[in-house]
Amino acid sequence: MSDTIEKVKCLIIGSGPAGYTAAIYAARANMNPVLYQGSQPGGQLTTTNEVENFPGYPEGITGPEMMIQLQKQAERFNTDVRDGWITKVDFSGDVHKVWVNDTKEIHCDTVIISTGASAKYLGLESEQKYLKLGGGVSACAVCDGFFYRNQEVVIVGAGDSACEEAHYLSKLCKKVTMLVRRDEFRASKIMAARVQNTENIEILYNTETDEVLGDGQVVTGVRVFNNQTNEKHEIPATGFFVAIGHKPNTDVFKDYLDLDATGYIINAVPGTSKTNVEGVFVSGDAADHVYRQAITAAGTGCMAALDAERYLAAKDAGFEVSTSTYN
Ligand code: NDP
Repeated sequence: MSDTIEKVKCLIIGSGPAGYTAAIYAARANMNPVLYQGSQPGGQLTTTNEVENFPGYPEGITGPEMMIQLQKQAERFNTDVRDGWITKVDFSGDVHKVWVNDTKEIHCDTVIISTGASAKYLGLESEQKYLKLGGGVSACAVCDGFFYRNQEVVIVGAGDSACEEAHYLSKLCKKVTMLVRRDEFRASKIMAARVQNTENIEILYNTETDEVLGDGQVVTGVRVFNNQTNEKHEIPATGFFVAIGHKPNTDVFKDYLDLDATGYIINAVPGTSKTNVEGVFVSGDAADHVYRQAITAAGTGCMAALDAERYLAAKDAGFEVSTSTYN
């Protein structure tokens, strides 16, 4: 443990669109934000190839390039952007304690959590290869579906997300093949019925992925197997979508913050970024299992910085602050 404890007015955890937007707003409000980037600087967008739906980029921009620009914008206003992983927190007192890499201790007046969520993947070597190459593997139909217009794609999953994404893809693509590993959907009846009744969606039950096929650069198909008969066959496809759930990166906060059953942080006051702990705010996908877009993450990053600023102003003015006293 370090013997020098750093004091920080506004600590931002996470470096996706939510974290950097919070930093831009907090820095411009003289809150001297310190931002820890976490294990994947730039967040989920760094695994995305082209971003075409973030307003302000008429020609589109790659995910990694966009994150570099957001970082530069945050640093332009003197955000202190650092490498580091938050390994422990203690939100039990008035001052919020945070440990970086199990060593450095920081005492914070406010904390903005922007740790995001991670899409789950199957873990197949071929899937990871084409994911890294940006060659046709995606965990976000809304982000990437457009690139597969009039093409044939495969999607894995049987929950509400998979149904929503398959339906979204069916409006763009010539054909969508959906791989369901059991003989039934997990999704709600209404969502399952929607895909079952869509003409260009073919559902293969009891079917799992054996390998994502490709030419070394891009996906060309998927080899699947029936887990009842072990029969294999190949499906031609240029896109392979994985929709088997997300895991919010919130484990480190679980002893202090209210989380839902999946681990998403619950907003103490709906429509704000406030958590159940005074002075601790959340933005981005760590609290959002519904929209999960870069632009919504950025929007809630802005909200978190404004909420943090108002919280500090109320505290400095000598008010007793509770989640409802500063708005
Ligand atoms: P879920 O956990 O609900 O579903 C995950 C799906 O992926 C399951 O069908 C599961 O199969 C399948 N799966 C998991 N691992 C594998 C694997 N290795 N191979 C093949 N299939 C696999 O996640 P969702 O993201 O769909 O939903 C998360 C939450 O968000 C849910 O509560 C959902 O209701 C909610 N949601 C609501 C929406 C809405 O109301 N509009 C939209 C999207 C999400 P199996 O069933 O066999 O376990």
